[in-house]
Amino acid sequence: MTAYVLVVNAGSSSLKYSLVDGETGESPASGSVERIGESSGRLAHEVDGEKHTEDREFETFEDAWGAVVDAFEDHGPRLEDVEVVAVGHRVVHGGEQFVEPTLVDDDAVAAVEGLVPLAPLHNPANLEGIAVARKLFPELPQVMVFDTAFHHTIPEVAHTYAVPRAWREDHHIRRYGFHGTSHAFVSRAAAAALGRAVSATNVIVLHLGNGASATAVRGGESVDTSMGLTPLEGLVMGTRSGDLDPAVHMHLHRSLGWSLEDIDRALYRESGLKGLAGENDFREVMRLRASGDVGAALAFDVYCYRIRKYVGAYYAVLGTVHAVVFTAGVGQHSAELRAAALSGLDRLGIVVDDVRNEGPVSGATFVSPDDSDVAVLVIPTNEEYEIARQALEVVRRSVQPG
Ligand code: ADP
Repeated sequence: MTAYVLVVNAGSSSLKYSLVDGETGESPASGSVERIGESSGRLAHEVDGEKHTEDREFETFEDAWGAVVDAFEDHGPRLEDVEVVAVGHRVVHGGEQFVEPTLVDDDAVAAVEGLVPLAPLHNPANLEGIAVARKLFPELPQVMVFDTAFHHTIPEVAHTYAVPRAWREDHHIRRYGFHGTSHAFVSRAAAAALGRAVSATNVIVLHLGNGASATAVRGGESVDTSMGLTPLEGLVMGTRSGDLDPAVHMHLHRSLGWSLEDIDRALYRESGLKGLAGENDFREVMRLRASGDVGAALAFDVYCYRIRKYVGAYYAVLGTVHAVVFTAGVGQHSAELRAAALSGLDRLGIVVDDVRNEGPVSGATFVSPDDSDVAVLVIPTNEEYEIARQALEVVRRSVQPG
């Protein structure tokens, strides 16, 4: 029996969706609407390996959603025919309150609205996606799956910033962490690849996409992660700086007269690989580096160095590490990055086998030698499947209480 979940990721001007079987991960269709609110919008609906596109203006989220429903109707599979059991929404920030996937109702929506100050760009877009989906599919249960939830197990000692009590208690300023669905999926898959129980497996997950984060996972639970109150902290990313002395803000303000908005934009949009190499796309950085570009070479080195530092830190946090796992666009595709980021860690038992590392990745792939103390794995992430799986679990629990 199939149990399809319509997985939705609503951004500030985009809507991504996939129809996913919450049991097997099989996905018959997926797509996106980009540039909502602009005159040059595009819907792309992919089914059976074939892409159908529609270029026009999608004025509002409601328009975009309507076009998605039409795309299912026109190009298949028809939503009535596949018996969708739930809509699963990615929600970026669940604050301290949402530690599990949650059924949508008015109270839950109000609570997520209350978290908007913690994620002013993301949560309003996620909420808008939810509001339209509730109108369009009133008969379907809607489930929110939070990026932060997997990290709720991080102990106080690791999630506490050394700042005044009022900041922490009244304003909930602490480390939350993100990319939780990916870290959950990949760390479980790593235990399976090692043939170990999840509860007895410690892994360091390196999610390296446009955004990037590292997580220390002990026995299936996140115990530390590199992103903090917001997704700006930690590793070097496509356009985000990652770790930075907070006094840089004051310095920019005092010496250059920059406003908070200027600083915010520069650290989120103009830093990271883009700031160092002029390009945020890792492939472009690698191309420039190969052609002898000095900025791109430095960008690559800084990117790798930051990863190596976190691996060392999380090794110390975990004590015993069974695997280091690479995932997301850069982690899955760049053998050069994997080898460079983990170089010099042999004394920790972390070694990359050159031949394996250069070989093809299919499912969970070992890139360390067989006799290594610590396995190095490449595992394609599947956040949509994880969201579908969690949404399905919530729906089943709600019809069979206890
Ligand atoms: P997102 O975080 O938006 O989901 P992805 O996980 O798709 O992004 O990662 C995007 C990044 O992966 C980009 O920087 C891109 O250059 C990089 N990437 C994709 N394919 C390759 C490749 N073959 N080699 C190196 N980097 C790649």
